[in-house]
Amino acid sequence: MKAARESNPASRAAWLRGEVQRHERLYYALGKPEISDREFDRLMAELVALEAASPELVTADSPTRRVGGEPVSGFAMVLHEPPMMSLDNTYNLEELREWAARLERLAPTEAAVGFGFVAELKVDGVSTSLLYEDGVLVRGATRGNGMVGDDVTENLRTVRALPLRLPPTAPRHLLVRGEVFMPRSEFERVNREREAAGESLYANPRNVTAGSIRQLDSRQVASRRLSAVVYQVADGPHFAKHSEGLERLGEWGFPVHDSWRRCRGLAEVEAFIADWRERRHGLGFETDGVVVKIDDLALRERLGVTAKAPRWAVAYKYEPEQAETVVRGILVQVGRTGVLTPVAEFDPVLVAGSTVRRATLHNYEDLSRKDVRVGDTVVIEKAGEVIPRVVEVRLDRRPEKSQPFEMPTHCPECGEAVVRFDGEVATRCVNPECPAVRQETIRHFVSRNAMDIEGLGDERIAQLVAAGMVTDIPGLYRLERQTLAALPSWGEKSADNLLASLAESRQRPLARLLFGLG
Ligand code: AMP
Ligand code: ZN
Repeated sequence: MKAARESNPASRAAWLRGEVQRHERLYYALGKPEISDREFDRLMAELVALEAASPELVTADSPTRRVGGEPVSGFAMVLHEPPMMSLDNTYNLEELREWAARLERLAPTEAAVGFGFVAELKVDGVSTSLLYEDGVLVRGATRGNGMVGDDVTENLRTVRALPLRLPPTAPRHLLVRGEVFMPRSEFERVNREREAAGESLYANPRNVTAGSIRQLDSRQVASRRLSAVVYQVADGPHFAKHSEGLERLGEWGFPVHDSWRRCRGLAEVEAFIADWRERRHGLGFETDGVVVKIDDLALRERLGVTAKAPRWAVAYKYEPEQAETVVRGILVQVGRTGVLTPVAEFDPVLVAGSTVRRATLHNYEDLSRKDVRVGDTVVIEKAGEVIPRVVEVRLDRRPEKSQPFEMPTHCPECGEAVVRFDGEVATRCVNPECPAVRQETIRHFVSRNAMDIEGLGDERIAQLVAAGMVTDIPGLYRLERQTLAALPSWGEKSADNLLASLAESRQRPLARLLFGLG
């Protein structure tokens, strides 16, 4: 190690790459870091500097590639061989038993001694295919339609849980399938940021992951800290059993979630399903079921596939999480376009591992069809959605004298009469001077996806609107330093910062401007 420290840039870079990779694996795949984040960052920074000074030192497997590269204009196609199939779903134990009974008819001899199954958690992310040649990640692809997907290698390199280089013990040619996902903590972080920027919240981690992985700018992907698990050797070395493949994948540095189990016969599979029903909510990522697979690969061959899914595997989907709670109030929010949306506020209740307090009742039709009233006991549901919805009103528990909800005839923010256009379900406030509409218009305009103007959170926008200092978007650009600085809790520094980001925003591309105004 000493020699490496003192030698030339090329061997120093090679040494650094090895070290960074080793620490990444310890941190992301094994969860056993040996050095602090600071020390890690220092190693990485030195490697970045070395490569910047001598670009010929950059290799395909360099961990510096994890920060992303230049945006691309589109993705190349990847042909999946073997195809990436989907799975048949079962929604209860009866359906699962029917699946097993079908296998028994197809393979009675093996069934007699009890099938060897492997049960794995079904991670709710985006499926990906990863190709390693000579131990280096050379291609990563989305599933697409199962036959053809998108080449998103640059984006997948930013996923730190995935090894860029395998140890020498790994096969020279290896095709692996897995699932890329956004950890719950990261999802919450992203949504907190969006909330602070006044942007709409993402409904669930899977959608953000799917959107991120198909971003053309891999630096954007790197800023979303995605993670991954792998669950299948799709091509490469020959194994007798799937479970052997899982064990080897772990040894080669892949993130294999250690929850998987070998199960003899269906009873053990059912025990696994019961065991994880609640436990899974304690994991750092979303799961929506269990995948049950035949372990013996020769038997898999014999069982074969149907047009869309293998016969030798099935997904068991957990029932959506439901809970009952009592509606304490229904408020009406006014959005940017003036649309009024009722929001139910209820007693806090735990569903699928998190506490929820409110649900948007989407639109008035939805609300009146379900006739949700203050005081009602309602059943709410989270089905792969972080934002819950009301699925049912328990009419048997409705208090006497409850009143049906009525959409206000006047805007709760400005008091003007609201209107409902023919053929539209939405009720709107059309007052151009409505503070809520103004607030939301500005909030959208300054948000990160639009003009990305810093220094204007919700409270500050409300301040400006209430003080009559901004009534429309051009008004933002007429703000003056003196008046801003004099506002409560502002001061000169905040005023200068805002004016600087407003000035900077004039350089934004037209597309962003149009989006901001749209
Ligand atoms: P579906 O998309 O509902 O047809 O389900 C199939 C998908 O489940 C696969 O394409 C994978 O992306 C995903 N999946 C998640 N975890 C696993 C696992 N342990 N084994 C196989 N597939 C999995
Ligand atoms: Zn209004």
